[in-house]
Amino acid sequence: FLDPEREVPQEQEALYRQMIDKRSTHIPLQHLTGEQEFMGLTFKVNEHVLIPRQDTEVLVEEVLKRLSKSEKHSIIDLCSGSGCIAVTLAKELEGSDVYAVELSGDAFPYLAENVKRNSANVKLLRGDVMNGAIMENFRDPEEPDEYINIDCIVSNPPYLTEQEMAELQKEVAFEPHKALYGGVDGLQFYRVIARLWSEVLAADGLMIFEIGSEQAEDVKNILASCGFGNIFTANDATGAVRVIGGYKFERE
Ligand code: GLN
Repeated sequence: FLDPEREVPQEQEALYRQMIDKRSTHIPLQHLTGEQEFMGLTFKVNEHVLIPRQDTEVLVEEVLKRLSKSEKHSIIDLCSGSGCIAVTLAKELEGSDVYAVELSGDAFPYLAENVKRNSANVKLLRGDVMNGAIMENFRDPEEPDEYINIDCIVSNPPYLTEQEMAELQKEVAFEPHKALYGGVDGLQFYRVIARLWSEVLAADGLMIFEIGSEQAEDVKNILASCGFGNIFTANDATGAVRVIGGYKFERE
């Protein structure tokens, strides 16, 4: 339609029709094209990683509002998946140390590939955010009882409830369930991350999450009970609370 003078080669037409057929079975468009744009960068995706969502841009923007560009930071992205959060933060906050933690062996090569194709300086760690073992990587080599100074822990963990998993939009059902399911009430990752990973965070450090549209109150309570103060929220384009965060210990 954009170029009516040009004839479409037969193979291209066949491929196009094939993709339309697949799309009509609700396979996400991004699984057919193999990529998704996020904050102006391109990420390779397939059925092993969650497709980057616009909602998650709210999370990244909120981190950028709170960490000054003129300073260097140490940031850990937990449950990194495609790497969209870690990669965009590393690009925007040049010179910072950005770590990405991911458990899934299927997702990990995509994370690595997305870091490389966007020439981002991100250190990759494979491991489970739900137990302390991976935290050992953040020990201070000079003072092994202490952790290195981490300014910010950011995460878009799996947060859908059992009920929501049973009613997934057809497209979303093609995405990895382990990237979506957050336990029966959807809150299991927030509980463990806030408690366990607050240890790694420097005093006054920022912990910030993407959350489901009904989870603000619960996650606020979780953060408060794990010693976080100055708790704040940010809304997505539909006006729902999509991001919540807090600082380790009250700032007076
Ligand atoms: N926002 C995603 C969805 O429902 C869920 C992402 C997540 O669990 N982190 O489409």
